Amino acid sequence: MLTATDRRAVSFRKLRTLEVVLKVTERCNLDCDYCYFFNAGDDSYKNHAAFISKDTVALLVRRLTEFSKERKLERIAIHLHGGEPLLMSKAQLDSICDEIRSNLAPVVDLSITIQTNGMLIDLEWIEVFNRHGVAVGISLDGTQEDNDAHRLDHRGRSSYQATVRGLELCQRHLSQPPGVLAVIAENSDPKAIYEHFRHDLGLGRLDFLLPDLNHDNFDGDAEAYGEFLVQIFDMMVNDEEPVSVRIIDHFLASIYGYGNFLFGAGRGDPEYLLITVSSDGGVGPDDTLRSTKFWSGYEYRDLRSYRIEEIIHDPLFQEFELAKKTTASACSGCCWRNVCGSGQPVHRYATRNGFDNPTVYCKGLDGFYTHVLRYLALHGEPLEKISANLV
Ligand code: SF4
Ligand code: SF4
Repeated sequence: MLTATDRRAVSFRKLRTLEVVLKVTERCNLDCDYCYFFNAGDDSYKNHAAFISKDTVALLVRRLTEFSKERKLERIAIHLHGGEPLLMSKAQLDSICDEIRSNLAPVVDLSITIQTNGMLIDLEWIEVFNRHGVAVGISLDGTQEDNDAHRLDHRGRSSYQATVRGLELCQRHLSQPPGVLAVIAENSDPKAIYEHFRHDLGLGRLDFLLPDLNHDNFDGDAEAYGEFLVQIFDMMVNDEEPVSVRIIDHFLASIYGYGNFLFGAGRGDPEYLLITVSSDGGVGPDDTLRSTKFWSGYEYRDLRSYRIEEIIHDPLFQEFELAKKTTASACSGCCWRNVCGSGQPVHRYATRNGFDNPTVYCKGLDGFYTHVLRYLALHGEPLEKISANLV
């Protein structure tokens, strides 16, 4: 990765995979208190279309086709996001998937995923997902108590039952098993959550996210988050059946040299780039940064006026990309820095000095990484193999 003092432009010369976070809607039926999109200070969604139009999707697809050919891309991953994507009509989402698949699949290796709170899923939705090979991720934080702590609707009502109903339909009828994404809460019980997911809900694909906090607003106990991951790791490796926990799988992949996907796909990898497309057809970088002051003033570049090639060379876009690919000076002596890369950019930010900080979760992650490496060493993995990607 680049260092904090490096001020080179990002060339994207080696780009092979483009990830597109596509905001098909910018409204939601929930009001989760930690939501980076609606409740972190950026209200730009209020000026954007509630639902993306057919014309905007067609324009995006043309721009992506052009960009894929110019750049000789190998893969495009479209992530259908919101807000809550299932607020749009089935016919609308069906036609969006049609437009994307029929035009891009002949040009690149294409994947389509959707991230939803699952509350509106029914059999007709599942037919749409199956027809277009859409992989489904459902947001659910654990037991009803865990979920109700943050994921309530606009009138303060629980979303748990509706989400679990949608999840169970997916488990029964979706052609590929759904994944579940949970945000870690500092005082939650990892054992209760893991057991709920594994035994009550029969899930085999999990992921855990650290809350989108930064140095301006984090006042929690970083070590508690690391301990949460340590306990999940211990339960995962002792599980009688194979379980995928994405954050742990990605850490292991980095350790064994299979690419670094920890805290964002290929974050430090020149072959990857992630863009966000708003419901109005505006393009910008990874928008999780909207919860930081760094984002204020970022104006999306409109697809009607700009090609994607121009947008990624826009000075502000470059500044964002450089920040993501740069490790903090304070991490220069850390053995994990190639793997951890100072953590997720949003967690590194402080108004006083931008991204030149270790993640707010540093202490916890250090404990988690150390625990996993110790486990691997104690279970016979050769030290030279598991330390090859450390510094
Ligand atoms: S369901 Fe997702 S988009 Fe909607 S408020 Fe919750 S976190 Fe935000
Ligand atoms: S563990 Fe902490 S010090 Fe090490 S690279 Fe990550 S954020 Fe930096």
